[in-house]
Amino acid sequence: MAEVNTFTGAGLDRAGALRRDAGRMAELRAAPESRALVTTDAGVYLRDAAPALVPLDALDGVMSAEPLLLGIDDEGRALFALDAEGAAIPALARAEPTPLREAAALLDQRDGGLVAYAGALLNWHRRHRHCSVCGAPTRIEEAGLLRVCPACGAHHHPRTDPVVIMLVTDSDRVLLGRQPSWPAGRYSALAGFVEPGESLEEAVIREVREECGVEAADPRYVSSQPWPFPSSLMLGFSARYAAGEPVVRDGELDAVGWFDRAEVAAAAEERGPLRLPPRLAIARRLLDGWLAGGG
Ligand SMILES: [Zn+2]
Repeated sequence: MAEVNTFTGAGLDRAGALRRDAGRMAELRAAPESRALVTTDAGVYLRDAAPALVPLDALDGVMSAEPLLLGIDDEGRALFALDAEGAAIPALARAEPTPLREAAALLDQRDGGLVAYAGALLNWHRRHRHCSVCGAPTRIEEAGLLRVCPACGAHHHPRTDPVVIMLVTDSDRVLLGRQPSWPAGRYSALAGFVEPGESLEEAVIREVREECGVEAADPRYVSSQPWPFPSSLMLGFSARYAAGEPVVRDGELDAVGWFDRAEVAAAAEERGPLRLPPRLAIARRLLDGWLAGGG
Protein backbone atom coordinates (compact mmCIF):
# COMPACT_ATOMS: atom_id res chain seq x y z
CA MET A 1 0.00 0.00 0.00
CA ALA A 2 1.64 3.24 -1.13
CA GLU A 3 -0.45 5.49 1.08
CA VAL A 4 0.02 5.11 4.81
CA ASN A 5 -1.66 6.84 7.71
CA THR A 6 -0.19 10.04 9.13
CA PHE A 7 1.46 9.58 12.56
CA THR A 8 2.78 6.11 11.59
CA GLY A 9 6.24 5.21 10.33
CA ALA A 10 8.61 6.42 13.08
CA GLY A 11 10.74 3.45 12.08
CA LEU A 12 12.83 3.40 15.25
CA ASP A 13 14.21 0.33 16.95
CA ARG A 14 12.33 0.72 20.24
CA ALA A 15 15.17 -1.10 22.01
CA GLY A 16 13.17 -3.24 24.43
CA ALA A 17 16.20 -5.01 25.93
CA LEU A 18 18.51 -2.02 25.98
CA ARG A 19 16.09 0.16 27.92
CA ARG A 20 16.21 -2.32 30.80
CA ASP A 21 20.02 -2.12 30.98
CA ALA A 22 20.82 0.70 33.43
CA GLY A 23 24.51 0.78 32.48
CA ARG A 24 23.85 1.10 28.73
CA MET A 25 21.15 3.70 29.36
CA ALA A 26 23.59 5.82 31.39
CA GLU A 27 26.06 5.61 28.47
CA LEU A 28 23.39 6.65 25.98
CA ARG A 29 22.30 9.59 28.13
CA ALA A 30 25.92 10.80 28.13
CA ALA A 31 26.71 10.01 24.47
CA PRO A 32 27.44 13.14 22.38
CA GLU A 33 25.40 11.79 19.43
CA SER A 34 22.23 11.21 21.49
CA ARG A 35 19.42 13.60 20.66
CA ALA A 36 16.18 14.75 22.29
CA LEU A 37 12.94 15.60 20.60
CA VAL A 38 11.47 18.31 22.80
CA THR A 39 7.77 18.83 23.40
CA THR A 40 5.44 20.66 25.74
CA ASP A 41 1.74 20.25 26.34
CA ALA A 42 1.27 22.72 23.47
CA GLY A 43 3.22 20.78 20.84
CA VAL A 44 6.65 19.91 19.51
CA TYR A 45 9.65 22.09 18.73
CA LEU A 46 10.47 22.10 15.01
CA ARG A 47 13.35 23.48 12.99
CA ASP A 48 13.39 23.66 9.18
CA ALA A 49 10.26 21.49 8.81
CA ALA A 50 11.69 18.69 10.97
CA PRO A 51 11.73 18.00 14.71
CA ALA A 52 14.43 20.10 16.41
CA LEU A 53 16.73 17.32 17.68
CA VAL A 54 18.73 18.83 20.52
CA PRO A 55 21.98 17.13 21.65
CA LEU A 56 21.16 15.53 24.96
CA ASP A 57 24.47 16.62 26.49
CA ALA A 58 23.53 20.26 25.78
CA LEU A 59 20.55 19.83 28.09
CA ASP A 60 22.51 19.04 31.23
CA GLY A 61 21.33 21.30 34.01
CA VAL A 62 18.34 22.70 32.14
CA MET A 63 16.12 19.62 32.01
CA SER A 64 13.22 19.68 34.42
CA ALA A 65 12.12 16.16 33.47
CA GLU A 66 13.80 12.85 32.79
CA PRO A 67 14.45 12.15 29.10
CA LEU A 68 12.54 9.10 27.87
CA LEU A 69 14.09 6.78 25.30
CA LEU A 70 12.11 6.60 22.06
CA GLY A 71 14.58 4.23 20.43
CA ILE A 72 17.62 3.89 18.20
CA ASP A 73 17.51 5.43 14.71
CA ASP A 74 18.96 4.10 11.44
CA GLU A 75 22.29 5.71 12.19
CA GLY A 76 22.56 3.99 15.57
CA ARG A 77 21.82 7.20 17.43
CA ALA A 78 19.64 7.19 20.54
CA LEU A 79 16.56 9.42 20.30
CA PHE A 80 14.88 10.61 23.46
CA ALA A 81 11.69 12.55 24.14
CA LEU A 82 11.88 15.37 26.63
CA ASP A 83 9.07 17.26 28.30
CA ALA A 84 10.21 20.90 28.30
CA GLU A 85 7.26 22.12 30.33
CA GLY A 86 8.62 24.73 32.72
CA ALA A 87 12.23 24.49 31.47
CA ALA A 88 14.20 27.17 29.62
CA ILE A 89 16.26 25.39 26.98
CA PRO A 90 18.93 27.65 25.45
CA ALA A 91 19.03 25.71 22.15
CA LEU A 92 15.33 26.47 21.68
CA ALA A 93 15.35 30.09 22.83
CA ARG A 94 12.87 32.22 20.88
CA ALA A 95 11.29 29.08 19.35
CA GLU A 96 7.65 28.15 19.96
CA PRO A 97 6.25 24.62 20.01
CA THR A 98 4.04 23.68 17.04
CA PRO A 99 0.77 21.84 17.80
CA LEU A 100 0.96 18.21 16.65
CA ARG A 101 -1.80 18.51 14.04
CA GLU A 102 -0.02 21.46 12.43
CA ALA A 103 3.32 19.68 12.72
CA ALA A 104 1.90 16.64 10.93
CA ALA A 105 1.07 18.77 7.91
CA LEU A 106 4.68 20.02 7.71
CA LEU A 107 6.62 16.84 8.43
CA ASP A 108 7.47 13.83 6.29
CA GLN A 109 6.02 10.42 7.12
CA ARG A 110 8.82 9.30 9.42
CA ASP A 111 9.01 12.54 11.39
CA GLY A 112 5.22 12.59 11.71
CA GLY A 113 5.44 9.13 13.27
CA LEU A 114 8.20 10.30 15.56
CA VAL A 115 6.32 13.31 16.94
CA ALA A 116 3.18 11.21 17.45
CA TYR A 117 5.18 8.62 19.39
CA ALA A 118 6.85 11.28 21.56
CA GLY A 119 3.57 13.17 22.04
CA ALA A 120 1.59 10.10 23.10
CA LEU A 121 4.32 8.89 25.46
CA LEU A 122 4.75 12.26 27.16
CA ASN A 123 0.98 12.76 27.38
CA TRP A 124 0.76 9.49 29.29
CA HIS A 125 3.56 10.43 31.68
CA ARG A 126 2.03 13.86 32.35
CA ARG A 127 -1.24 12.22 33.35
CA HIS A 128 0.15 9.26 35.33
CA ARG A 129 2.56 10.66 37.86
CA HIS A 130 0.71 8.92 40.67
CA CYS A 131 -0.18 5.29 41.22
CA SER A 132 -3.76 4.50 40.21
CA VAL A 133 -3.88 1.76 42.85
CA CYS A 134 -2.67 3.60 45.99
CA GLY A 135 -2.05 7.22 44.96
CA ALA A 136 1.68 7.35 45.74
CA PRO A 137 4.07 9.13 43.32
CA THR A 138 5.51 6.65 40.82
CA ARG A 139 9.01 6.48 39.30
CA ILE A 140 10.03 5.96 35.69
CA GLU A 141 11.57 2.63 34.68
CA GLU A 142 12.62 1.09 31.37
CA ALA A 143 13.65 4.54 30.17
CA GLY A 144 10.02 5.60 29.94
CA LEU A 145 7.98 2.50 29.03
CA LEU A 146 7.04 1.74 32.64
CA ARG A 147 6.18 3.54 35.86
CA VAL A 148 6.61 1.64 39.11
CA CYS A 149 4.97 2.47 42.42
CA PRO A 150 7.50 2.34 45.28
CA ALA A 151 4.69 2.11 47.85
CA CYS A 152 2.62 -0.83 46.58
CA GLY A 153 4.82 -2.25 43.82
CA ALA A 154 2.26 -1.81 41.03
CA HIS A 155 3.58 -1.59 37.47
CA HIS A 156 1.93 0.88 35.11
CA HIS A 157 2.49 0.61 31.36
CA PRO A 158 1.82 3.48 28.94
CA ARG A 159 -1.73 3.02 27.76
CA THR A 160 -3.30 3.47 24.39
CA ASP A 161 -7.06 3.98 24.20
CA PRO A 162 -8.71 2.09 21.31
CA VAL A 163 -11.22 4.04 19.23
CA VAL A 164 -13.13 2.41 16.38
CA ILE A 165 -13.85 4.57 13.36
CA MET A 166 -16.03 3.12 10.65
CA LEU A 167 -17.27 3.78 7.20
CA VAL A 168 -20.74 2.27 6.85
CA THR A 169 -21.63 1.90 3.19
CA ASP A 170 -24.66 0.78 1.23
CA SER A 171 -23.62 0.26 -2.40
CA ASP A 172 -23.06 3.78 -3.71
CA ARG A 173 -23.73 5.74 -0.53
CA VAL A 174 -21.84 6.24 2.72
CA LEU A 175 -23.05 7.14 6.21
CA LEU A 176 -21.39 10.24 7.69
CA GLY A 177 -22.04 12.40 10.72
CA ARG A 178 -20.90 15.77 12.01
CA GLN A 179 -20.04 17.04 15.46
CA PRO A 180 -21.25 20.49 16.54
CA SER A 181 -17.70 21.84 16.96
CA TRP A 182 -16.60 21.10 13.39
CA PRO A 183 -16.33 23.69 10.59
CA ALA A 184 -19.53 24.27 8.61
CA GLY A 185 -20.26 21.52 6.12
CA ARG A 186 -17.73 19.01 7.47
CA TYR A 187 -18.85 15.41 7.89
CA SER A 188 -16.80 12.37 8.81
CA ALA A 189 -16.93 8.68 9.64
CA LEU A 190 -18.66 7.72 12.88
CA ALA A 191 -16.31 6.85 15.74
CA GLY A 192 -16.25 5.97 19.41
CA PHE A 193 -14.21 4.49 22.26
CA VAL A 194 -14.14 0.74 22.69
CA GLU A 195 -15.73 -0.19 26.01
CA PRO A 196 -14.54 -2.79 28.54
CA GLY A 197 -15.48 -6.36 27.66
CA GLU A 198 -16.16 -5.54 24.03
CA SER A 199 -14.53 -6.71 20.79
CA LEU A 200 -13.67 -4.15 18.14
CA GLU A 201 -16.39 -5.57 15.89
CA GLU A 202 -18.97 -5.25 18.67
CA ALA A 203 -17.87 -1.67 19.31
CA VAL A 204 -18.37 -0.79 15.62
CA ILE A 205 -21.93 -2.10 15.62
CA ARG A 206 -22.83 -0.56 19.01
CA GLU A 207 -21.44 2.88 18.17
CA VAL A 208 -23.30 3.11 14.87
CA ARG A 209 -26.52 2.02 16.57
CA GLU A 210 -26.09 4.45 19.50
CA GLU A 211 -25.10 7.44 17.42
CA CYS A 212 -27.72 7.19 14.70
CA GLY A 213 -29.97 4.16 15.05
CA VAL A 214 -28.59 2.36 12.00
CA GLU A 215 -27.80 -1.36 12.12
CA ALA A 216 -24.39 -2.10 10.63
CA ALA A 217 -23.07 -5.57 9.80
CA ASP A 218 -19.93 -7.40 8.80
CA PRO A 219 -17.27 -5.01 10.24
CA ARG A 220 -13.93 -5.42 8.48
CA TYR A 221 -10.65 -4.01 9.77
CA VAL A 222 -8.90 -1.68 7.31
CA SER A 223 -5.95 0.07 9.02
CA SER A 224 -5.00 1.94 12.18
CA GLN A 225 -3.56 5.29 13.19
CA PRO A 226 -1.97 6.50 16.42
CA TRP A 227 -3.88 9.60 17.49
CA PRO A 228 -1.94 11.28 20.30
CA PHE A 229 -4.78 13.52 21.56
CA PRO A 230 -3.94 12.47 24.19
CA SER A 231 -3.34 8.74 23.67
CA SER A 232 -5.79 7.09 21.28
CA LEU A 233 -5.33 4.46 18.62
CA MET A 234 -7.84 4.87 15.80
CA LEU A 235 -8.91 1.49 14.41
CA GLY A 236 -10.39 1.94 10.95
CA PHE A 237 -13.20 -0.35 9.83
CA SER A 238 -15.59 -0.72 6.97
CA ALA A 239 -19.08 -2.09 7.63
CA ARG A 240 -22.12 -2.92 5.59
CA TYR A 241 -25.47 -1.20 6.07
CA ALA A 242 -28.13 -3.64 7.32
CA ALA A 243 -31.22 -1.69 8.47
CA GLY A 244 -32.65 1.52 9.90
CA GLU A 245 -32.81 5.18 8.95
CA PRO A 246 -30.12 7.49 10.36
CA VAL A 247 -31.29 9.99 12.97
CA VAL A 248 -29.28 11.87 15.60
CA ARG A 249 -29.75 9.95 18.84
CA ASP A 250 -27.19 10.27 21.61
CA GLY A 251 -26.25 13.95 21.39
CA GLU A 252 -22.70 13.40 20.11
CA LEU A 253 -23.65 14.37 16.56
CA ASP A 254 -25.69 17.30 15.35
CA ALA A 255 -26.36 15.79 11.94
CA VAL A 256 -26.02 12.42 10.29
CA GLY A 257 -26.99 11.10 6.88
CA TRP A 258 -26.17 9.38 3.62
CA PHE A 259 -23.90 10.88 0.99
CA ASP A 260 -23.52 9.44 -2.47
CA ARG A 261 -20.27 8.78 -4.28
CA ALA A 262 -20.63 11.87 -6.49
CA GLU A 263 -21.06 14.16 -3.48
CA VAL A 264 -18.03 12.68 -1.72
CA ALA A 265 -15.93 12.79 -4.90
CA ALA A 266 -16.82 16.49 -5.34
CA ALA A 267 -15.92 17.18 -1.70
CA ALA A 268 -12.55 15.44 -2.18
CA GLU A 269 -11.86 18.04 -4.87
CA GLU A 270 -13.19 20.81 -2.61
CA ARG A 271 -16.28 21.38 -4.71
CA GLY A 272 -19.84 21.42 -3.37
CA PRO A 273 -21.22 22.00 0.13
CA LEU A 274 -19.80 18.85 1.75
CA ARG A 275 -16.39 19.13 3.44
CA LEU A 276 -14.29 16.09 4.29
CA PRO A 277 -11.96 15.59 7.25
CA PRO A 278 -8.33 16.76 6.78
CA ARG A 279 -5.91 14.51 4.95
CA LEU A 280 -4.00 13.62 8.09
CA ALA A 281 -7.07 11.85 9.55
CA ILE A 282 -7.70 8.14 9.01
CA ALA A 283 -11.35 9.02 8.27
CA ARG A 284 -10.14 10.74 5.12
CA ARG A 285 -8.06 7.69 4.16
CA LEU A 286 -11.12 5.48 4.59
CA LEU A 287 -13.17 7.81 2.39
CA ASP A 288 -10.43 8.04 -0.24
CA GLY A 289 -10.24 4.23 -0.24
CA TRP A 290 -13.97 3.94 -0.72
CA LEU A 291 -13.90 6.47 -3.57
CA ALA A 292 -11.13 4.48 -5.20
CA GLY A 293 -13.36 1.41 -5.07
CA GLY A 294 -11.72 -0.27 -2.15
CA GLY A 295 -14.93 -1.03 -0.26
ZN1 LIG B 1 0.84 2.14 44.41
